[in-house]
Amino acid sequence: MKILLAIALLALGFPPHLPAQPATDTALQPLTADQRAALQQIDQRDVTAAISFLASDELQGRGTATPGLETAGAYVASRFRAAGLDGPGDDADSFYQSETLAMIRTPSQGVVLEDADGRAMDHFGLYAAGDQALEFIGEVAKVDAEREDQQFDGPVVMPLDTGMSGLRLRLNVANRVRSLRQQGATAVLLRVAQDHPLVDMAAANRAQVRLPSRRVDSQIPVLLVPDDDNWPVPQRLELPAREEPVQVVNNVIGILHGSDVELSQQAIIFSAHLDHLGSRKNASDDSIYNGADDNASGVTGVLELADAFAALPTAPKRTMIFVAFWGEERGLLGSKFLVENPIWPLGKVVANINLEMIGRPEAGANGKAWMTGWEHSDLGELMRVGAERVDVDVFEHPQFSNRLYRASDNWPFVQAGVIAHSFSAGSLHNDYHQPTDEWEKLDLRHMTIVIRGLFAGSLPIADGQLTPRKAGLDD
Ligand SMILES: [Zn+2]
Repeated sequence: MKILLAIALLALGFPPHLPAQPATDTALQPLTADQRAALQQIDQRDVTAAISFLASDELQGRGTATPGLETAGAYVASRFRAAGLDGPGDDADSFYQSETLAMIRTPSQGVVLEDADGRAMDHFGLYAAGDQALEFIGEVAKVDAEREDQQFDGPVVMPLDTGMSGLRLRLNVANRVRSLRQQGATAVLLRVAQDHPLVDMAAANRAQVRLPSRRVDSQIPVLLVPDDDNWPVPQRLELPAREEPVQVVNNVIGILHGSDVELSQQAIIFSAHLDHLGSRKNASDDSIYNGADDNASGVTGVLELADAFAALPTAPKRTMIFVAFWGEERGLLGSKFLVENPIWPLGKVVANINLEMIGRPEAGANGKAWMTGWEHSDLGELMRVGAERVDVDVFEHPQFSNRLYRASDNWPFVQAGVIAHSFSAGSLHNDYHQPTDEWEKLDLRHMTIVIRGLFAGSLPIADGQLTPRKAGLDD
């Protein structure tokens, strides 16, 4: 409601009312010698080392619930350990907040399909498996597309019209399977040509474990069979149940406790998502989605900020929490999990500073960063004033600041009432979400400068000199 009100006021031409910040009225002091020394911890050699590892082919695109993401998480934990941070739980040396996921895999073996004479029949594989194994002897019923009143009591065979692809195809299949299930079908044999896109998808479903999705959950098995007039109606069918391996995923969290008795109860959360899209079969030779800009760059920023804050001879007055999330690309899952299972009281989080894609500047924006959701709080303005001291501009992006406010891990925090924004220093370039998002294409000098800017920008908040405020609130 407050956000809607602020938008409404903006639309009417009223600037949101921001309470005065005493310290921004007078210029901030320049960085102290200690702060300048800590700033030097953020250097291009460290940035190069971190990002060239995180975005390497060896990590296989850091897909959620893959060994590549686990290795990346172990690396982040090792960096937090080296910086002298504490873990979030009772065991101060464990930097993981773990969650257990049930994953779905379609079995690659166990399909039996026979004609009336007991001869094995061709098929193109299982597209989706059901909750339970199915055994059926008898004639598989044909679906008559002209009739909507058919009832079934066993598997059915149905032709699939072509002409659809991608998500539309998947949704169409899911909807038709759902209605056949409601009519009593216990499995669907889909008749498709051998070059139909579903055949490739069936192969991919076997090879990958997937997060459970509402679209395919508790559906009945779907087997792909040839669209051939000579193909007889099967008499015997055995389908294996889907497998549900358990996978552990981790948010990696390091804490630098504040040095002031009172203010140390308040925290700033610096975060970035560690996961990316993993590796996939695709048309090009390169199947690894390295996610260098998205978002090995942001994680590298968080690691460098942790080093810099930890290098101060006295820790900042407020507590600094550094987080690398899993599952952002699967729907902000890691940040949602943290917000639902907070390791710090959310009412005591003064800001979430989330880093997203800081490695590839737009023309004219080298060494500059922009913040999403600019008008929803004065955090951007406070960061701008602090970062200006090291000649880094923090600005409101005319196209993206609004559009991307809800598009990253800051959003679950916003929904929980926390001032939370993403800082970016790039653009939606052609390599976005492509296997070509490689670290060699980043501007590492720009990245280093921007991380230094975010450090200088957040220091006055870390030390309690400045406190961000939501827009549209009266004093
Ligand atoms: Zn991202």
